[in-house]
Amino acid sequence: MEFKTKYSRILGHILHAYGQYYRMISTTHPVTLTFSVTGRCQSRCKTCEIGDYWHAGKFADKPDLKLDEIEKIFRSLGKIYFFNVSGGEPFLRKDLPEIIHLAVKYLKPAIIHIPTNALLPKRIEEACREILENNRGKEYIVPFTVKPSIDGIGKKHDDIRGVPGNFNKLEETIIRLKTVEEDYPEFHLELGTVISKFNLGDLDEIEDYVHNLGVQSYRNEIAEERAEFFNKGKGITPSAEMYEKVMARFSAEIIRHLPEKKSLTKLTESLRLVYYDLAVKVLKLQKQVIPCYGGITNLHLNFDGQLWPCCVLAYERPLADLRETGYDVQKAIRSRQAKQTLRFIRKRGCYCPLANQWYSNILMHPPTLSRVILNYFFIDSRKKRK
Ligand code: SF4
Repeated sequence: MEFKTKYSRILGHILHAYGQYYRMISTTHPVTLTFSVTGRCQSRCKTCEIGDYWHAGKFADKPDLKLDEIEKIFRSLGKIYFFNVSGGEPFLRKDLPEIIHLAVKYLKPAIIHIPTNALLPKRIEEACREILENNRGKEYIVPFTVKPSIDGIGKKHDDIRGVPGNFNKLEETIIRLKTVEEDYPEFHLELGTVISKFNLGDLDEIEDYVHNLGVQSYRNEIAEERAEFFNKGKGITPSAEMYEKVMARFSAEIIRHLPEKKSLTKLTESLRLVYYDLAVKVLKLQKQVIPCYGGITNLHLNFDGQLWPCCVLAYERPLADLRETGYDVQKAIRSRQAKQTLRFIRKRGCYCPLANQWYSNILMHPPTLSRVILNYFFIDSRKKRK
């Protein structure tokens, strides 16, 4: 997809979101759809209880959406920009390549992103290759990123993820996915860390490890208490002060390397700098510091057919159950329940630093967006002055 087309598409989503927010438009046209494709997960993470719930059979009455159900939902939703797959563990679904095929057919995403616990190295590699082969020969080639989680080094990782031997599997997965990266230029391997109170002191070690592996892309996000993870009240999130210290270090690193980045990466990194700042403010002030457009710019589809504004509110404040509304997202978004949930968010009844959502919120808020632009040019001009 061409650069110009990408930006005009994002602009279209933003304009639509304004129209929906100010109640001039009653349809949804989100920038991002996150789809938790399954509730199954082999991990027993300290930061998430989905694995515990699944092992205890608590999802027995919540079967995963089947392909024909997913197709109806995607068809009713139409185009999006970012397609984030989530779980449980997405690669436990043997039909994951078919799900991606349906997403490309109906949602026409510009970017596909899949995290993994890396416990099934061979299956992960095979599924990635199948997805990439399926996408070849389409009208456009979709960039596709897979992000194995790395929450510590060696046994520390296994302890946090609750599975002995997970780190060895992670290393095998990385080796396998590097071969995929060599074969498919549209494929990207990224590693990601969930920063929680369990690994705050290990971030340097993890970063050095990732750097020595030669993996180009590394992201981290703050551990959050989410209704989706059944971890509310568990106290896993670092304090705002601790988080601020860590983020200040990450920001300094970004600023140091920003001038040498290509313009698109530089823009993304400028956005991340503003996000880090906002995330600290949200944690400190415990409120939405700019309006949140959860349920408008971003939607979250759960494996059982529930449509959520975000994974933080999740089961507590759903928009609709698509199994009960004929799998029609446009109809669901006009339901009384959806309107109540959107009103709750608009009245700032909730807050959180959820990265995906806050990137969209920044795009929707011109004063904050202008800080991204200033970052972009300020850092560039500072380099020129040196
Ligand atoms: S502020 Fe957080 S919890 Fe509230 S809607 Fe936005 S993303 Fe969800």
